[in-house]
Amino acid sequence: MAARAKQMQEAGVDIISMSLGEPDFDTPERIRRAAQEAIDNHWSHYGPVAGIPSLREAIAHSSVSNCPFSIAFTRDDVMVSVGAKMAIFNAIQTAINPGDEVIIPMPAWVSYTEMVKLAQGEVVPVQTRFDDNYCMTPEQLRNALTSRTRLLILCSPNNPTGSVYTHEQLAALVAVLRDFPEVSILSDEIYASLTYDGEAVSMASFPEMEDRLIIVNGVSKAYAMTGYRIGWLMTKNKAFLAACMRLQGQQVTCATMIAQKAAEAALTGSQDCVSEMKKVFEERRELICRLAVSIPAFRFHKPQGAFYLFPDVSAVGSGDEVAEYLLDKAHVAVVSGSAFGCLECIRLAYAISTEQITEAMQRIKNALDDLSGRK
Ligand code: PMP
Repeated sequence: MAARAKQMQEAGVDIISMSLGEPDFDTPERIRRAAQEAIDNHWSHYGPVAGIPSLREAIAHSSVSNCPFSIAFTRDDVMVSVGAKMAIFNAIQTAINPGDEVIIPMPAWVSYTEMVKLAQGEVVPVQTRFDDNYCMTPEQLRNALTSRTRLLILCSPNNPTGSVYTHEQLAALVAVLRDFPEVSILSDEIYASLTYDGEAVSMASFPEMEDRLIIVNGVSKAYAMTGYRIGWLMTKNKAFLAACMRLQGQQVTCATMIAQKAAEAALTGSQDCVSEMKKVFEERRELICRLAVSIPAFRFHKPQGAFYLFPDVSAVGSGDEVAEYLLDKAHVAVVSGSAFGCLECIRLAYAISTEQITEAMQRIKNALDDLSGRK
C-alpha cells in the first residue's frame, strides 16, 4: 500500500498519507543543538555496549514513562539500543529458545510476530475484542498460557488501537501471571508520553514483577527523534541484561554516540517540547474523533494514547478492501488492520496537520458513504 501510494504521488495524484507511524514534527531545536555539539566535542569513538553512563542515568530517572515506577531502576539496569525496535529484538532473542511460546495480544505492532519467528518461537495470538477496547482480559491470558509459555508482550498505549490499559486491568493480568513464574513480560511503553486521559500505567507499577519484567521505551515518539534510532530496555534481571548485552556487543557494539548524546539532552533538558507536541496530538485526536463520528461505516473507540484511530469498517468491507478502496477513490493512504492481525479494521495515523485531517476525513466520508449507498 505504501509503495502504491508513493507511485500515485509520483504520478502527480494528491495523496494524503495517514499511514506513517511517526510524529510529523521536527526534532526540537535544543536536541538538534546537542547532536551538533556532540560532533564538535568528538563523540566519535566506540562507546560501552550498554550505552553512555550519563544517558543510562538519565533513562533510569526520566519522566518519559509518564508514570511513577514502583521498581527503582538504576543506570545498571539499562541497555541503550538502536531504537526500541532493536531493544525488543534482543529481548525476544534472549528470552526464548526454539519452540517456546510467546503470547501476543492482537491487534499488535507488526514486528513482534516477525521477531518471534526469527527467534524460532511460536506466537500465541490472543484476539482481543472491540467490546473490551482491544485489551486482553485475564481470562484470555489464562487460556493462552501453557507450560511452554516463556514471554508475554504487552504494548500500552497501543499501536495500532490507541488503547491504554488501566491499573486495574494490568493488576488482573499480573494476578494471573503469579501462577506462571517462568513467563517474562516485555512491556513496550514507547507511546507512554502520548497518553491523553490521565497517566499511562507502566508494568513497573507492580514490584512483584521485578525479576521478570523488561521495560522498553525510547526517544522516537516522545521527542520526534525517529531517525536518531535511540531506544532502550530496562530490567532488574542481571543475567538477562548481560545476555542482551552479549548479543548487542556482537551486533553493533553500541548505538551511535552522537545520537546517544542527543537523547541524553532530550531526557535531561526542559520537557516543554513533549507537552507541546502532546497538546497538538490531543487537539488532532479531538478533531479526528469528531469527524469520524459522522462516518456511519466506522465503529471505533476514542484512542486514549499514541496517534492512531482504529475503526472497525466491517459494515462496508474488510480492512484490506477498504484500505485499497480509500487509496483509489479518496486518495487517502491508510493501513489495513490485517497488517496488525485484525481483518475488520483500518489504522489512520493522525500525525498530520489539522487541515490535512479535515480534508482526509471529508474524502473518506464521501467515499465510504458512496460505498454504503451501493451496498
Ligand atoms: N514499538 C511500537 C509499538 C512502535 O509502534 C514502534 C515504532 N513504530 C516501535 C516499538 C519502534 O520504535 P523505535 O523507533 O524506537 O525503534
